[in-house]
Amino acid sequence: MHELAVTEYVYNIVKKQAELNNVNKVEKINLLIGDQCDYVPEIIEEYLQVMSEDSLLDGVKVCAKIKESKVLCKDCGAQFTRHEFDGKCPKCGSENLKLNRCTDFIVDNIEASQE
Ligand SMILES: [Zn+2]
Repeated sequence: MHELAVTEYVYNIVKKQAELNNVNKVEKINLLIGDQCDYVPEIIEEYLQVMSEDSLLDGVKVCAKIKESKVLCKDCGAQFTRHEFDGKCPKCGSENLKLNRCTDFIVDNIEASQE
């Protein structure tokens, strides 16, 4: 259920931006979501569609991109994603690593029409 709060957050940001830019209809919202957030983009889209009925967001599409957490090697300074990670630094083989958990949630941009 925590998607509901974040959806309200997105809705308010987008609505405000749309009003500031004299937009008549918002077509698409692009989100960037950290892989440690554990929000389900489909649920956010569903909530948004219900929330935005009869507003300028009516029928809006949501496109979410996942931002991957990075692992930092404390020895050589290399940064890599968790995908490339198998317990050791791929560059120098060190196990002295730090995981930077990505919990970002960003409204990246908004596509809208002004007719
Ligand atoms: Zn390293």
